[in-house]
Amino acid sequence: MNECLFCKIINHIIPADIVYEDQEVLAFRDIQPQAPIHLLIIPKQHITTLNELTDNSIAGKLLNTVQKLAAELNIANDGYRTVINCNQHGGQAVYHLHLHLLAGRQLQWPPG
Ligand code: 5GP
Ligand code: ZN
Repeated sequence: MNECLFCKIINHIIPADIVYEDQEVLAFRDIQPQAPIHLLIIPKQHITTLNELTDNSIAGKLLNTVQKLAAELNIANDGYRTVINCNQHGGQAVYHLHLHLLAGRQLQWPPG
């Protein structure tokens, strides 16, 4: 997926503040953070939206990465929020599946 912004980050064509990387996933800081900690966790495989996620091992890997980063960043106890925006009504702007991990302040509910 040559044109995909997040594939370019995966391939180090566009720089990003990467906090975790392995063979299947990449986690990096959101360029426009909405909380003191705002990470994006993405599969290295180009998957457009949550609707196209069929591989349970990737789904599990994304959530395992949340747990791992929450522990490492010391936010597991205070808490955090994970968000996956899907398509237009979900407010998805980048069409490479990504999970937002937000933490470091009291988050409000419901979202807008
Ligand atoms: P979405 O609305 O698709 O769920 O979220 C896309 C996120 O990607 C937004 O929070 C936006 O700030 C972030 N973003 C967009 N372009 C870049 C970029 O070039 N680098 C990084 N690190 N984040 C980006
Ligand atoms: Zn992509």
